[in-house]
Amino acid sequence: MTVRTVALVAHDHKKPELLAWVKQHRALLEPFKLVATGTTGKLISDETGLEVLRFKSGPLGGDQQIGALIAENQLDALFFFWDPLNPAPHDPDVKALLRLCSVWNVPVACTPATADLVVTSPLFSDTEHRRAMPDYGK
Ligand code: PGA
Repeated sequence: MTVRTVALVAHDHKKPELLAWVKQHRALLEPFKLVATGTTGKLISDETGLEVLRFKSGPLGGDQQIGALIAENQLDALFFFWDPLNPAPHDPDVKALLRLCSVWNVPVACTPATADLVVTSPLFSDTEHRRAMPDYGK
C-alpha cells in the first residue's frame, strides 16, 4: 500500500481558516503524507505537531513545486484556500496550480465547505481508491 500525499496551501488571510480546518479533521489527515507551501506548512506543524514536508513559500516557487508533484503523479489531493479578495504577486502560479489539478484530475478543494465534503468522503480514506487518470497519449 503506497502512502498517499495531500498538499495544503493557504494564502495569508486564509491561513487561520485552513489551520482550524486541519485541526478539525486531524484524524482524517494523519494517515497521509502532508506537504505544504513554506509558511502554511510551518504554521500547521507548529500549531498541530503534524509532520509536514515544507516546500518554498508560495510566492517563491512553492506552488510550482506542488505543481511538479502533480505532473509526476505524486499528489492525491490539494486543499488550497486561496484568497479571492486580495491580489497575490504569484497569481500566475496560483492559476497554473489549479490548472494542473484539472489537467490531471486531482481533487482540489478551495473552500472549507468543499474541503469538508472531500475529507469526509469514504473515497478519501479508502486506501484502494485511485482516481481516473487522463490518458493524453491518444
Ligand atoms: P505560503 O504560500 O504558505 O508560503 O504562505 C502560500 C501561497 O501564497 O501560495
